[in-house]
Amino acid sequence: MRTLTVTLADEAATLALGAGLAQALVPGLLLTLSGELGAGKTTLCRGIVQGLGHRGAVKSPTYTLVEPYEHTRVPVYHFDLYRLGDPEELELLGFRDYLGGDGVCLVEWPERGRGFLPAADLAITMSAQGDGRRVTLEAATPIAGDVLAALDH
Ligand code: ADP
Ligand code: MG
Repeated sequence: MRTLTVTLADEAATLALGAGLAQALVPGLLLTLSGELGAGKTTLCRGIVQGLGHRGAVKSPTYTLVEPYEHTRVPVYHFDLYRLGDPEELELLGFRDYLGGDGVCLVEWPERGRGFLPAADLAITMSAQGDGRRVTLEAATPIAGDVLAALDH
């Protein structure tokens, strides 16, 4: 399926990519964000959440595991599974309800939910490149392919 790789010179570029993604996202999509601590995953999520119309802060839900934003163009649920003890905890969190609902799910550290997290529609991988970041977006479903097509014009 479609893959897009971009380099992001600074934080503003990461936020702008998130805003661009936000324009194209549709309900029901699962986006995963992989990469080391500091790779820019939360920054990209902030760009998406604010691009969907949220005006306030977007903090990493490291301890709460999930932060919902429901007053946005499309509801968005931001997960950070870094501190997930056991993938089974995803069931207790009600992950299926979030995913099967009318919103978009953004999941940092999807590796921690292996076995319980469904396959992503859009798998995003971030890494350091010089002072900036390199991002690869891999669409696994046609709808996610359309999102990348909208970004890439
Ligand atoms: P993660 O969630 O992957 O741990 P963060 O989003 O918290 O990473 O970002 C870590 C740092 O990287 C922040 O200080 C952020 O401003 C910075 N950052 C984000 N995008 C870029 C970029 N494209 N170039 C340089 N620094 C960036
Ligand atoms: Mg983070």
